[in-house]
Amino acid sequence: MKVLTYHNIGTPPKSAKLKTLYVKPQDFRKQIKALKLLGYEFLRSDDLLKSPKGRGVLLTFDDAYLDFWENAFPFLKQEGIPALVFVPAGLVGRFNEWDYQKLMVKKTLMDWQHLRELVSAGIEIGSHSLTHPYLSQIPKETARREIEDSKKILEDKLGVEVKTFCYPYGDYNQEVRDMVAEAGYLMAFTTKHGSVLESPNLFEIRRITVFGNDFLPKFLFKVVL
Ligand SMILES: [Zn+2]
Repeated sequence: MKVLTYHNIGTPPKSAKLKTLYVKPQDFRKQIKALKLLGYEFLRSDDLLKSPKGRGVLLTFDDAYLDFWENAFPFLKQEGIPALVFVPAGLVGRFNEWDYQKLMVKKTLMDWQHLRELVSAGIEIGSHSLTHPYLSQIPKETARREIEDSKKILEDKLGVEVKTFCYPYGDYNQEVRDMVAEAGYLMAFTTKHGSVLESPNLFEIRRITVFGNDFLPKFLFKVVL
């Protein structure tokens, strides 16, 4: 059982740095179709609590970029494939304020209306903190607010239970991990590479990051192995 990580689904602007975090829409569709042909089951986060075995993938999308709405959601909806989107709850409807200067590109995030429509189509929403900080490097009480308040805000605004958390930049330590568990989340996702079975516990779930330059055989190799 694998959890896949996507960031942007789209074509990167010429000026953008870290272009490998953009997967082209046609490549994304090919990847999903290939997994379908291979008999993979598309999971929801709850399935990870059951038996972490078998040919299953959970698709996760970090940062809630508008290009998910534009380029991934219509296809997923049409195919009836579930997904989990991690939202920085304090930046809904804004842009990637945490790294736009470094990346030299402003990327719009979905707004509440977009997120509500995702929820009604069965897409799961998880928390990606409030403002996307390095949680192990800020004061403990600030980190606690980022973890607890983001859950409350998403639940209030969207009327769903938010069970999953994703560490911004994959940054966490034992204290941060415990705070996430104490806040009432059922599981949390890292950027460490590996399968669900290889993860030490449900609050340090490993994932497979999909890069824009993963050609199809490489993508499949990463998922299958
Ligand atoms: Zn992120």
